[in-house]
Amino acid sequence: MTKYIFCTGGVVSSLGKGVAAASIGRILKSRGLSVTVQKLDPYLNVDPGTMSPYEHGEVFVLEDGAETDLDLGAYERFIDENLTKASNLTSGQVYQEVINRERRGDYLGKTIQVIPHVTNLIKASMTKVARQSQADIVIVEVGGTVGDIESLPFLEALRQMRKDAGRENTFYIHVTLLPHLQSTNELKTKPTQHSVRELRGIGIQPDMIMCRADMPVGNDLREKIALFCDVDREAVIPLTTADTIYEVPLTLEEEGVADFICRRLNIECRSADLTEWRQMVDHIKKPKPRRVTIGVVGKYVDLEDAYISVYEALHHAANHHDCELDIEWIPSEDLERLRQIQQLEKVNGIIVPGGFGERGIEGKIVAAKFARTRQVPYLGLCLGMQVMVIELARDVFESNAPNSTEFNPTTAYPVIDLMPDQRDIASLGGTMRLGSYPCHLADNSIAAQAYESQVVHERHRHRFEFKNEFRQVLGEAGLVFSGLSPDGRLVEIVELSNHPFMLGSQFHPEFKSRPTRPHPLFATFVKAACDYTNPSTSENSVVIETNHH
Ligand code: GLN
Repeated sequence: MTKYIFCTGGVVSSLGKGVAAASIGRILKSRGLSVTVQKLDPYLNVDPGTMSPYEHGEVFVLEDGAETDLDLGAYERFIDENLTKASNLTSGQVYQEVINRERRGDYLGKTIQVIPHVTNLIKASMTKVARQSQADIVIVEVGGTVGDIESLPFLEALRQMRKDAGRENTFYIHVTLLPHLQSTNELKTKPTQHSVRELRGIGIQPDMIMCRADMPVGNDLREKIALFCDVDREAVIPLTTADTIYEVPLTLEEEGVADFICRRLNIECRSADLTEWRQMVDHIKKPKPRRVTIGVVGKYVDLEDAYISVYEALHHAANHHDCELDIEWIPSEDLERLRQIQQLEKVNGIIVPGGFGERGIEGKIVAAKFARTRQVPYLGLCLGMQVMVIELARDVFESNAPNSTEFNPTTAYPVIDLMPDQRDIASLGGTMRLGSYPCHLADNSIAAQAYESQVVHERHRHRFEFKNEFRQVLGEAGLVFSGLSPDGRLVEIVELSNHPFMLGSQFHPEFKSRPTRPHPLFATFVKAACDYTNPSTSENSVVIETNHH
């Protein structure tokens, strides 16, 4: 019988509910239990794939090509299990399915209502995840905050699950915030009490309350919350802001969270083995002998969540190489309009991450040129690979014209072009080349050395690709096509010869980096950046000329 743990949030959003859910997954897995996680998102989009990163942060892509909420990235990094399309359910998907069924006539004669038709589909989705994964424990996190209008059907479905699956198989966790008042220097529990009252109004009595706080939570407060919210004293768990999110599972284990849950759910299991995880966290917290600064040149850099997997992957790699990591978030438009090249002079390595649309492109090309001409390590991710190709082509053809047809449909040098199977696609949702594809690596390439393998599988999310008619001329200019699709038709990795490390991948390696297993391309890039000594800035800095405008 599957056991369900439900996580809801209260008081404010962005509490780190996703990290809490993922951490619970990790500590239960460390006891030998199999765990999977599902995120229920109350918004009406079918998936976050069509949302701007400013609305929603990064879109995390799964092996099977599902475009999902960034919390799924946290789940995969913490629990180290590949999730599937069913792991992220949105209101949009639920309503689409209900309406399809109605049109087919499945409900003939009936009035279709939120209860039971919508809630039944939500429950069916949870049991489907349980069935498909065969996991001992399914952790279900509900996005948003208790009190949101659109999350009501999800919470109602959660409530009904206690009856459907049984009391001994369901456990409810509510994550809240204890705000700190400067004037009296104290943490306040009232918002938590109100939030729990709201939850009870819906019919859910939490079994555990996790309280986020920016300072230690005293015993008196825990007693108070236990009393007012009717939970056991040992089920009030403080989540004080940690040095690193990877510390959260260790904190939860110390607080006895897994013991309490297992007792309540009647699960027999061995004691926790968090040795490897603890070593990783200790390593992160230890001062490092070296420092490395990586510039990330993108257009959503003022919102860190937009590149959260890149951020995490860089940290995994830097930790692996015993390097303190500083990330400089460089707005690509600064490089484009203001020519603020000096921002690039401070860094030991440059990343151009994925992106869509023309805004900021020329600034990314400036960054690629800087990396190429000054021999600064460069890693291009999807769009960053395309930019690297465009920049080199502009140099080779001595012209500003080379471009991607995404940005200039009539360019004379369409070095990046729409994939043939994308030409007839009109709708934008879920229609890109998505998910995991195999990639064959060229012998003796930097890529092959990094991966120590000949075939790799990586996750994609793009419509455009390298145009093969330019292979010869760019090959002669030093571009190595070191990763190809099995049929040789699609260029998946390019790297530059005569450069310490300049490599771009058409896929997104960041999605597969794990804290205990940094991604080989990130690890090799960060190593190159550590080895790169930045020539002392301003004096000998030449303003690099740009080919455009
Ligand atoms: N916009 C580019 C494409 O669609 C790159 C996409 C990306 O970086 N994910 O091919």
